Amino acid sequence: MLIDTHCHIHDRETYDFVISHQHNPLKENYDPEKILKRAHENGIEKMITIGTSHKDSLAARAFAEAHPSVSWSYGIHPDEATSPGAGGALRGPAAPRAEGERGWMGDTTRPPLGTRKAEGLQDPPGKLAAIGEVGLDYHQGEGARAAQIKLLERMLELAIKNDLPLIFHVRDAFDDFWPIVDNAGIKRAVVHSFSDNEENLKRALDHDFYIGVNGLATFADLPTPPLERTLLETDAPFLAPVPVRGHVNEPAYIKNIAEFLVEKHGRTLEEIAEITTKNAEKLFKI
Ligand SMILES: [Zn+2]
Repeated sequence: MLIDTHCHIHDRETYDFVISHQHNPLKENYDPEKILKRAHENGIEKMITIGTSHKDSLAARAFAEAHPSVSWSYGIHPDEATSPGAGGALRGPAAPRAEGERGWMGDTTRPPLGTRKAEGLQDPPGKLAAIGEVGLDYHQGEGARAAQIKLLERMLELAIKNDLPLIFHVRDAFDDFWPIVDNAGIKRAVVHSFSDNEENLKRALDHDFYIGVNGLATFADLPTPPLERTLLETDAPFLAPVPVRGHVNEPAYIKNIAEFLVEKHGRTLEEIAEITTKNAEKLFKI
């Protein structure tokens, strides 16, 4: 069994955009049922679909609710820090929520909505796996730096309050990032789509964080984290791995990333699958 710990399969709008701009050999419009079918056929039995704004996170929740193999995460991406949608988060997790959304994050052991029975799962664990993706991204400049830091601090509070691990997105911003996570005492996290240097990899490993390895590693020259700290992810529909680079990405391609690691680590595919799956299950309790 393999797990895709980071994809955006609920996000029709992003898929539509990527489908119209990238190579689409299947000539297929966004079809989540087919995407899930291909994932299952390739041994990807669990997926986490990632929220990037308040609204998008609720869409991720709805998608996870309707699909037994999918969990979801709640997060506001650093790029959203100055958008009006981040206002709720900036007011803090204790702020009153919009009508109809009350209590969504109060009890994470409860399924987000009430249709588990219809799936034949009478007593399922909660499907909210993490807070993320959250972090700092200075790639487009540092203009929104203060707003990003404030948003990240609120997201860390949210994770602590709900006893959830974090999925971090950090780009060109590790110098500011480390003191913030240290201050908050964050212990359980993954640095998703890690694309930085040896030094920041070492710091992440010293924090006992996991490292998200995706298609980037198959075509960029990146430091390789130890298997014991590696999580497999696609970031679908982005970042399709070699040999399908440039295609619309989807969870089925986790298999290609696992095969890339077979070569990197000199281990069997079974070992790669077993270790990375155990890592994901331990961090996210999925
Ligand atoms: Zn992502």
